[in-house]
Amino acid sequence: MALFGSSGIRGIANSEITPGLALKVGLALGSMHDSAVIGRDPRTSGEMIEHAIISGLLSAGCNVTRIGMVSTPTLAYAARNYDCGVMVTASHNPPEYGGIKLWNRDGMAFDSKQQDEIESVIQNKAWKTAEWNSIGMVNEANVIEEHAEMILGKVGRASLKVVVDCGCGAASTITPYVLRRMGCHVITLNSQPDGFFPARNPEPVEKNLEMLKKATLAFGADLGIAHDGDADRMMAVDGLGRFVEGDKLLAFFGLRETKKSIVVPVDTSIMVDDVLKGRKVYRTRVGDVYVAEELKKRNADFGGEPSGSWIFPGISLCPDGIYAAARLVEIVENEGRLDSLVGELPAYPMLRGTIACSNDKKEAAMGKIGNGLKKMGEISSIDGIRVDTKEGWILVRPSGTEPKIRITAEARNDVEKLYSKTEKIVKEAIL
Ligand code: MG
Repeated sequence: MALFGSSGIRGIANSEITPGLALKVGLALGSMHDSAVIGRDPRTSGEMIEHAIISGLLSAGCNVTRIGMVSTPTLAYAARNYDCGVMVTASHNPPEYGGIKLWNRDGMAFDSKQQDEIESVIQNKAWKTAEWNSIGMVNEANVIEEHAEMILGKVGRASLKVVVDCGCGAASTITPYVLRRMGCHVITLNSQPDGFFPARNPEPVEKNLEMLKKATLAFGADLGIAHDGDADRMMAVDGLGRFVEGDKLLAFFGLRETKKSIVVPVDTSIMVDDVLKGRKVYRTRVGDVYVAEELKKRNADFGGEPSGSWIFPGISLCPDGIYAAARLVEIVENEGRLDSLVGELPAYPMLRGTIACSNDKKEAAMGKIGNGLKKMGEISSIDGIRVDTKEGWILVRPSGTEPKIRITAEARNDVEKLYSKTEKIVKEAIL
């Protein structure tokens, strides 16, 4: 199995993500870079993995700056002053997970080519170790204040009442302080870092945010903010205590940030295209790294994923959940209530389902499905098979982890018809 996935290296801490593996990552990375900055989220495995990576980096002769427990966007911002950045995080995964993600100076995560290079050095044990007199040195720095000041320099004052749910993650070190310094009345929820994530699952999806919804309503706040474990993601709740759907938040930011073009993943609602009429919408594979890569390539104005990753290229190519929170607060301060602003956006019905299909049959089935779907409209194969029809679109993707094929359909009107047509083609292809 490949070491790196679309979000770096991730797995169960101390059985898959071990100090032994982390040491090799440090050795490989250190063999190719002279300096590195390293940070971690509050996971129980964080310090163990961090120390092992640092040992590897130093042994390879790379100088290391430790910035302690920080959000991923803080680490990505700090990386501009070093040859590379290392974030010890498993993002929104449950507490038993650990992970390592590598960063470039421009705030973009290592792409697949760079990850392959590291992987090949590890596999071939091709790292270099330094002589005794050129072993790397360790420095410590506090960059949270620099990151906070950068954000505060980009947004105006605001006097809203905001509930911030950091989910016991790394956002606890920065988001409440930034919003308070903007002038907001901030009420914190779960803003004590804790690697057991006792308050809620770190993923900021609606079912994990019941506490935030209740608190936002109960405190009479203007809005609520939620982050994942490492704060590259940000989601919101309106003043009525209602979760704002990811596609809506994407269109909401897209409308205000996009002059010419925007980048979104292939499973994004066509509501975004309709709202942003006249502006180019580029679609990529699902994953914020792909959105960032395409954004850089197209020189687009904005990029985002409905899962809560918002990329403002004027700030960073790393999705910055803290800046996104500050920008959202600024917009609501200037333009009025979040529920009415979001309420202006259209909503189209979407249906999602799965069809059982054994893993060995998936490839052949996808071929037949492609042939069947061709008749329905314009086909693209960025990620699975997507068909754009007059009424809407369909996405058929084999699950990467389960013996299933996933179907998503969205239409401006009759989504059931579109879904059942697709389901029939998929079922016939599996027979
Ligand atoms: Mg994350």
